[in-house]
Amino acid sequence: MKTKQIHKSTVNVVTLGCSKNLVDSENLITQLEANEIDVSHDSNELSDVVVVNTCGFIDLAKEESINTILQYAELKKEEKIQKLYVTGCLSQRYKDNLEAEIPEVDAYFGTVELPALLEKFEIDYQHELVGQRSITTPAHYAYLKISEGCNRTCSFCAIPLMRGKHISRSIESLVTEAKNLAKQGVKELMLIAQELTYYGLDLYKERRLAELLDSLCAVDGIEWIRLHYAYPSKFPTEIFEVMVRQPKICNYLDIPLQHASDNVLQHMRRQITQAEQRALINTARQIVPDIGIRTTMLIGYPGETEEDFDILCNFVRDMKFERLGVFLYSHEEDTRAHDVEDDIPADVKANRSNRLMEIQQEISFNKNSEKVGKTFKVLIDRKEGGYFVGRTEYDSPEVDNEVLIEAKDNYLRQGDFVMIKITDCEDYDLYGELVEG
Ligand code: SF4
Repeated sequence: MKTKQIHKSTVNVVTLGCSKNLVDSENLITQLEANEIDVSHDSNELSDVVVVNTCGFIDLAKEESINTILQYAELKKEEKIQKLYVTGCLSQRYKDNLEAEIPEVDAYFGTVELPALLEKFEIDYQHELVGQRSITTPAHYAYLKISEGCNRTCSFCAIPLMRGKHISRSIESLVTEAKNLAKQGVKELMLIAQELTYYGLDLYKERRLAELLDSLCAVDGIEWIRLHYAYPSKFPTEIFEVMVRQPKICNYLDIPLQHASDNVLQHMRRQITQAEQRALINTARQIVPDIGIRTTMLIGYPGETEEDFDILCNFVRDMKFERLGVFLYSHEEDTRAHDVEDDIPADVKANRSNRLMEIQQEISFNKNSEKVGKTFKVLIDRKEGGYFVGRTEYDSPEVDNEVLIEAKDNYLRQGDFVMIKITDCEDYDLYGELVEG
């Protein structure tokens, strides 16, 4: 009997979740394209084969992943697509349940099963392609995943269950990948990891983030390097010295602190106190006075009292973070926090989140107002409506502030670095005009 070949022209890879998942999708796409399989990413067009790369981080993300799988399962039932595969975090964590509940899916794969997924396309995993990534982001920026997994034991976090222990990639392979990305036109690298500052401890038996940064700064064509997801306890403060020494490292740090009440921090097993967090942020600002600090807070952790929440609000008021995001606590099976009752009602969580973001809104507006009249280097991301939209070194794509420049008077291209004088601002965005010369 002749087996049915997968049509070589249309595979749609659908990515849900975070930038780390996006890099996994890009690696999959690279392997498929190397075998002349025509791939699209997050396409609305119908395709022969769909691969859904899922997220299993919190309730909302799981719901979105399941709804997406169901939507494509329906298309498969209607014979509008031929094959449906599911990979990523949700699939890693709930494979058995998913196989039972959504049998229309042809096969489920975990987070480290790329070779097995490729077998479905009758192709072998090619090691030599590591570092030659097809990017799905705009051509001028890319994410660089420097490690996988996490050795920390934060009580609320399911990531180690899905991504395993920390595995650092070698400095050589990361530099090779950065060079390849630079050849494709990438100017800005976003370094990502579950836990950035642990980099090297597994592979080299010592922290090597500073050395990695120096090596990446030597790559021609890369002009900005940005640091995402640092764990605050025992933070290697020499990173701030590298930021000062190396102009390519953006004065930006994404450092999720999660909370500020010592009571909650201890239950979360964050291995840090509020006083130590304050000291760390103050050290960062002493060494890098204009640093833009982004943090995230987790609201509604079991047992979080009004008093704990007030402590958090006061901390945010005092520390005046440049950027702040909020997650609502999600009660995840098999985490340590799951052993206690999820006792904060959803409406209380939402109310606290709104109150915290109101505090941040005012901080953000005040910080933006201080920028009016000043000139900044801006990287142009896109044209939208009547504006060119770009970012300063203090802003990461998708999550942070943007700079809007009227399009009618200027001609700018995506990926251009330009000097922009800030003329006006809103809570989270800036308006500016091109400075000639
Ligand atoms: S450091 Fe981050 S990824 Fe690691 S367990 Fe804690 S919250 Fe999860």
